[in-house]
Amino acid sequence: MQDRFREECGIVGVFGHPEAANLVYLSLYALQHRGQESAGIVSAKDDILISHRALGLVADIFNEDIIRRLEGSAAIGHNRYSTSGQTLLKNTQPFVVEYGRGGLAVAHNGNLVNAVELREQLEGQGSIFQSNVDTEVIVHLMAASKGERTVDRVVAALSQVRGAYSLVFLTPHELIAARDPYGFRPLVLGRIQDKDSVVVASETCALDLIGATYEREVEPGEVLRVSASGVESFRPFPTAPRTSCIFEYIYFARPDSRVYDRNVYEVRKDLGRQLAREQPAEADIVIPVPDSGVPAALGFAEQARLPFEMGLIRNHYVGRTFIEPRDAIRHFGVKVKLNAQADVLRGKRVVVVDDSIVRGTTSKKIVQMLRHAGAAEVHMRISSPPTISSCYYGVDTPTSAELIASENSTEGIREFITADSLGYLSVRGTYNFLKNGEGNGFCAACFTGRYPVPVSDPGRTHQLVLFEAKER
Ligand code: SF4
Repeated sequence: MQDRFREECGIVGVFGHPEAANLVYLSLYALQHRGQESAGIVSAKDDILISHRALGLVADIFNEDIIRRLEGSAAIGHNRYSTSGQTLLKNTQPFVVEYGRGGLAVAHNGNLVNAVELREQLEGQGSIFQSNVDTEVIVHLMAASKGERTVDRVVAALSQVRGAYSLVFLTPHELIAARDPYGFRPLVLGRIQDKDSVVVASETCALDLIGATYEREVEPGEVLRVSASGVESFRPFPTAPRTSCIFEYIYFARPDSRVYDRNVYEVRKDLGRQLAREQPAEADIVIPVPDSGVPAALGFAEQARLPFEMGLIRNHYVGRTFIEPRDAIRHFGVKVKLNAQADVLRGKRVVVVDDSIVRGTTSKKIVQMLRHAGAAEVHMRISSPPTISSCYYGVDTPTSAELIASENSTEGIREFITADSLGYLSVRGTYNFLKNGEGNGFCAACFTGRYPVPVSDPGRTHQLVLFEAKER
């Protein structure tokens, strides 16, 4: 959907499989929702790394010939949505650099809050950067460290960075995966049993597609080294309170994935049930804003004992740009993606469930589309609390000033979107699906403004994070 947080990045690594690059390609395909601007794969064969990266979607970037050239039994891959740096080929990942015998490649999901300071320090010491994304800072810190083994250099570099990272590194003979001590971004470990191959990926939907079984999460603060001798696990960092991104459950992750050891679809349904308990509405039908609002709308309808209908149909084949007609059609941008079904909506009091409101402009257009299609009343329900603060941990959000809830009350937002009523899930209610009903273990800073890892200079961090914030 438009007018919302953008997805971040997807990463994957496969070790010990004769078709490693092909499996990484398929995994990136499954993780396409996490980033659509560029993708890349690096494979390891004998003593060299082979790389292919390009702007665009996975299916457009790779073909059989390219995959065949990415030889070797280990590979890593990355889907990028630019949370830092511009959309340029030089910023696509995995990064590949000269390192030891054969090189080093790295793919990153997350955002470092001290990347600007570290980069200035490194440049002061003579480092020359080839991109403007924060991941490259890690590579320079590795080069400056003294460890004998690559894994020691990874640990030395990561000991100096602050913020969010799930990472995969590849050298000709080993794959290293790491997750920050707070566990901001997801990372899972799986295996392809018959080949005894190891897979790490952002989400389990990638494992499912390539026939890998889910073993466990890579733990916050854990570093895994995968080589011909097997999988070694290290816990080199001081433990930190876990603060995994709750927005993975609300919007980012695919509903069929298991994230932080819970099925995302089930969590979203639970959020919808809780929303119905907290924000009931006198209505005839419940409809979702597809696709991401579907599970919460199902939960809402079930709890409220109202019929669930598809009152909005999404066009799944919309490209990133389209040519608008010269004579303006009202709400054209939204209409290209969503169409309201008059036969379902006519004369009905409608609850429309969405997962978030960012700027409010899309919600307003949706409400107006539903009315235009004949809805008698439109009650907007949101399966998360009001979004009041920007993210500094790897999700591309507008600045706080652009977030409608940072400056407006719920009533003010209702007026702006022209709904008959508007109800958000409470912060406490968001945690209801957790066994202890508390938010321990999660970052919810975009709802609370309480940042678990301090951002020393948000303006400068944003310089990197929001290089090109624009509405989708
Ligand atoms: Fe996730 Fe929001 Fe925290 Fe960013 S600020 S990590 S989007 S919960």
